[in-house]
Amino acid sequence: MQRIGLFGGSFDPVHLGHLLVAQAALEEVGLERLFFIPAAQSPFKPGTVPTPAAERLRLLRLALAGQNRCEIDEQELQRGGISYTIETLRDYARRFPGVQLFYLIGADHVPSLTKWRAADELAGLAEFLVIPRPGQPQTEFPSPFRGRALKGFPLGVSASEIRARVKAGLPIDHLVVPAVAEAIHKYRLYS
Ligand code: ATP
Repeated sequence: MQRIGLFGGSFDPVHLGHLLVAQAALEEVGLERLFFIPAAQSPFKPGTVPTPAAERLRLLRLALAGQNRCEIDEQELQRGGISYTIETLRDYARRFPGVQLFYLIGADHVPSLTKWRAADELAGLAEFLVIPRPGQPQTEFPSPFRGRALKGFPLGVSASEIRARVKAGLPIDHLVVPAVAEAIHKYRLYS
């Protein structure tokens, strides 16, 4: 059975933490395809205005150039408004019948999965892959959710830290791929 992974997030900007998650998911789960799905507006970050979609997409394209199992899905950006995972998963279930779907989430989201929109339906549509992040404890999946933890390459980098470093004039060269660092400087993002 074909295995497809979905990786949602703000990607503001995409960084090496995200790319190592992708590598771990591809290798450990044997995914054939992994879709990066930038959110229009994350339900977990109310009140924050993300960088315009065109800029976040530009950086994602640069970061994923040549990674042929990784693709970008713009559906949440095109729908606009708050991006609910259930709407995206329904779309994949419809477009890829008979495929095994995996959804990547940070460990901090596991205990509250039952509060996500249409939680029971969501739990039936995908297996959840928990991303290791330094300092985050492993927790059990609340019923009826199922999934497993990735071993990965835990790296303590976040997009907010990168934005803060750019603002402070600090280097980000070892936290994002070189083309992304160049574009951030060239287009004066986050400064
Ligand atoms: P911000 O700092 O702006 O909140 P973020 O770096 O956490 O952003 P998002 O784009 O919101 O990144 O995250 C997308 C997904 O990637 C989330 O599930 C998040 O938990 C995960 N993620 C982000 N950074 C890392 C990292 N360093 N290691 C593992 N997972 C990460």
